[in-house]
Amino acid sequence: MIDLVRAVGAVVGSAVGDALGAPFEFGPEGAFSARFPSTGDGGEMCGGGGWDPGEATDDTQMAVLVGESLLECGGLEPADVFRRFQRWAAAEPKDIGLQTEAVLSSGDPWDTAAALHFQVSQRAAGNGALMRATTSGVHFARRGRAATMDAARRLAALTHGDRAAWEGTAIFHELLRTALAGADPLAALADTLAEVHPDHRARYATVLAPDWHPDLATEFNGAVWPCLGSAVWALRTTASFEDAVRAAVDLGGDTDTVAAVTGGLAGAVYGAAAVPERWTRILHVPLPGFGERVLRVLRVEELSELARRLSD
Ligand SMILES: [Mg+2]
Repeated sequence: MIDLVRAVGAVVGSAVGDALGAPFEFGPEGAFSARFPSTGDGGEMCGGGGWDPGEATDDTQMAVLVGESLLECGGLEPADVFRRFQRWAAAEPKDIGLQTEAVLSSGDPWDTAAALHFQVSQRAAGNGALMRATTSGVHFARRGRAATMDAARRLAALTHGDRAAWEGTAIFHELLRTALAGADPLAALADTLAEVHPDHRARYATVLAPDWHPDLATEFNGAVWPCLGSAVWALRTTASFEDAVRAAVDLGGDTDTVAAVTGGLAGAVYGAAAVPERWTRILHVPLPGFGERVLRVLRVEELSELARRLSD
């Protein structure tokens, strides 16, 4: 049973985290709280670094593309998702991950492009599949644990050849499923880890453990392990949606994505009403490549409707 309020909270919450974190990308730890010391200060959707206040980045843009594909195809059609990604990438979005761009522009077919890229580069454990997984997580939640984790892996594999990225996205889908059902995702970690591919279980167990802290990360948080670990840490160490995403952005580094992942989980846990209205009011998601003459832009109403339809 999926709670609609939680589904909207997840999709809108992830977009809000993305837009909140974007101006602080690649900045130092503590930059956000230095500028906005207290919860509820106002003005946090400040824009900067090429982003307008409230503008969501590639994380949310790709999540919307995935969601619309699932609805229009009546389920997961990986070739269709890949085509939408390519059309979007060709329209020159303001930001696109290096890994994702290389695969989408390779000219290789959808079912081999990511694997071929990984064979050559040996680097494909970025957070670029995890960051766009909230819409698919909402859609597959009602199918149960095995189905939602499998869908996550297949969607991640479209752009990321490293199984580490698939498993991180699968964990996120399952934690989201738990939260959407009204249960505590933190209490579901042990059962979720048991479903992770054995070669990848130990590394995720480390970053998802209660005593792990983002300062213990062995990679930049643009990698999938510390990104997911940081999102779970932010959820665990705070008690509201607002404080969870504040903590995520304040970690610095890949702030938009860490906050998008955190916002997806926290939005599902706390529900749509916990996402501050002063943030959703100016939230907007441009969709390069998908407008008729003018750029198509989704606002909170359209994002909420997308979440509702995905959870139907
Ligand atoms: Mg981004």
